[in-house]
Amino acid sequence: MGVTGPAMHVLWNGEKTEAFTPSRGLRQGDPLSPYLFVLCMERLCHLIEESIAGRQWKPISLSRGEPQLSHILFADDLILFAEASVAQIRIIRRVLEKFCMASGQKVSLEKSKIYFSANVPRELRDSISGESGIQQTCDLGKYLGMPVLQKRLNKETFGEVIARVSSRMAGWKGRTLSTAGRLTLTKAVLSSVPVHSMSTILLPKATLSKLDQLSRNFLWGSSDGKQKQHLVDWKRVCRPKCEGGLGIRQSSDTNKAMISKVGWRLLQDQTSLWARVLRSKYKVGSASDRSWTASKNHWSSTWKSILVGMKEVILESHGWVVGDGRSTHFWTDRWLTEKPLLERTIASLPATQATPLVRDLWQNNGGWRWDQITPFVSEEVKLELCSVVVDTVTGAEDRLAWWPSPNGEFTVKSAYASLTRDESPRQSMDTFFSRVWKVAAPERVSFFLWLTGNQCIMTNQKRKRRHLSDSDICTVCKGGVETLIHILRDCPAMSGIWSRIVPIRRQQDFFDRSILSWLYDNLGEDGLVEGSPWSTMFAIGVWWGWKWCCGNVFGENRKCRDRVRFIKDQSKEVTQAIEKCNAQNIKPARVDRMIAWVPPEVGWIKLNTDGASRGNPGPATAGGALRNNYGDWCGGFVLNIGRCTAPLAELWGVYYGLLIAWEKHIPRLEVEIDSELVVGFLKTGINDSHPLSFLVRLCHGLIEKDWLVRISHVYREANCLADGLANYAFSLPMGFSSFDSVPSDLNGVLQDDILGSARLRSVCIV
Ligand SMILES: [Zn+2]
Repeated sequence: MGVTGPAMHVLWNGEKTEAFTPSRGLRQGDPLSPYLFVLCMERLCHLIEESIAGRQWKPISLSRGEPQLSHILFADDLILFAEASVAQIRIIRRVLEKFCMASGQKVSLEKSKIYFSANVPRELRDSISGESGIQQTCDLGKYLGMPVLQKRLNKETFGEVIARVSSRMAGWKGRTLSTAGRLTLTKAVLSSVPVHSMSTILLPKATLSKLDQLSRNFLWGSSDGKQKQHLVDWKRVCRPKCEGGLGIRQSSDTNKAMISKVGWRLLQDQTSLWARVLRSKYKVGSASDRSWTASKNHWSSTWKSILVGMKEVILESHGWVVGDGRSTHFWTDRWLTEKPLLERTIASLPATQATPLVRDLWQNNGGWRWDQITPFVSEEVKLELCSVVVDTVTGAEDRLAWWPSPNGEFTVKSAYASLTRDESPRQSMDTFFSRVWKVAAPERVSFFLWLTGNQCIMTNQKRKRRHLSDSDICTVCKGGVETLIHILRDCPAMSGIWSRIVPIRRQQDFFDRSILSWLYDNLGEDGLVEGSPWSTMFAIGVWWGWKWCCGNVFGENRKCRDRVRFIKDQSKEVTQAIEKCNAQNIKPARVDRMIAWVPPEVGWIKLNTDGASRGNPGPATAGGALRNNYGDWCGGFVLNIGRCTAPLAELWGVYYGLLIAWEKHIPRLEVEIDSELVVGFLKTGINDSHPLSFLVRLCHGLIEKDWLVRISHVYREANCLADGLANYAFSLPMGFSSFDSVPSDLNGVLQDDILGSARLRSVCIV
């Protein structure tokens, strides 16, 4: 399409310039062209809707009572749906012709296809196709790389995914890279190439295991025909780094985590067309009732895939953020804490009791119905219940929340983590591996340390055990069994070097330890030796010890006269390189400032609030004070909340502060809080699935009343009175207390603020 016809004016400072005619035209690829396309297509949609309203165009639905489908536009593709009849194709043609006449566009008959459902008879298909001049097809091919109709999936369907991953990996000449380099590339390829397919459908098992196999082979350096040994079990490689793995994602769980995102969006989305169609076609129910998830044979492979994600991921880890409490089950749903309350009861619930909703156990002006709760829960749960309320004010509904994320929002990463969570008791190697990956050393050195931690370095001792070699004696010194600790430390070739490098204070211990505690201990020592952290020099010494030993075996040892000097120089080089990198991430400058509480302007009242949680979550309190422009006490309160997190305690402080200020008919209120997180929630809002949203909503309800409220963040040093009140609350009984005059314990703080006394704080300047 080239736009050349019309004359154009430019609006310049509100006035039209002289008319001009664009001469170059507007072509495909011009940044304006998609907008023009959308504008045109909107007109086409109007024509279609008009025709439907006039009962000419008959849209289809996938089953009774479902949303009707007539047209879908995506980017520059157009799909039209209608009843299969010659009369209908004429109506469609008429609409299209009208549109073409008006817009000057043309339908490309060659590029268009008609797809018939299976029960349209052959003669009818032919006459519809003949009437329209458009060819029929039984295969819509691929859309954005995914096959559109998936009758039966098999590994051939996704052969292309495999081909792309394998060609991408083959493109990197695996053998010229270190294993550490291949690890990075494996992760990069796996996290890009198959992502689109994996987020739309569950790939066949054969495809997934082929993907794993490709990454495995690439990682260990196998290539066509040349199989290399896989030193560490694949399952282990796929554990997170801190658990002794390499953090490669295993394909089948990655696939489930990705597809579960569709399921999550479906449960959240009540309005989009796709969600409405799927909901009604597959009778999608609520997250608490699973009857609709029982698999049926006639379901499409796409839907079956989504359901696997739904059942294995979403329904396993979803929770609720309570609004009005009408959708959340008090005992069986996850809503107050990570576990459903049923799992935290101290006495069994009466079997007859139907499972009540949260709303059922809440009374409007009386809070929780303790008579029905107390007998079954611990004091701790009771205190936790005290920190939340059911929102009977704003009409907010209960919302699904994704429990593995603290903010309630679904992410593929957290879904993968919850799928692969390993709850079996582990050996305490976690700290060992966190040291391995923390050492400032080149990636290939860390990788080697990882291999040693997994005890899979090949030595003569192991070779002999596996009958790969006749002798287990060290080929360097010929004086001892070649174990790993021999190679890395005890062989005279190395021990001589170590005794000249190891700091004197470590000498005694150094040669006594067993291999793992030797590595662990030395990798944790960051004291400087000749300008490098000892952990770095040690790691580099270990790595070269290994290299020199291998060089000896394969007869390719480089001449290196002074190995002690060499290790020291290498460490220095590495340390300097890393320091250079770190220097590029410029640290924000800090300055010392004196911070003091500042009274409000005349005519304003200042509210300072604060919350405290001992344990986060743990016993929690809040407090707040109102002061005028002289710094005089105008009211204040403390609250012993129960048990909750620090941000929730902060929000309770804000809520009660706003409430007492409103009740005192204060017209202009300035609120100061020392939590940036909470200030952010109050100023820019909060996601509906966030566990704190119920209280933020209640605060917003107060802020939006007919008064002026300003909210700002202050440093802790300017919020001492509120902080003092919150701490004071720990000595008081549960609940709310307000004070007409300052509690005597805090009079000193109040007077300090009046005098403007300041406290020192080092402040970041951006
Ligand atoms: Zn030796």
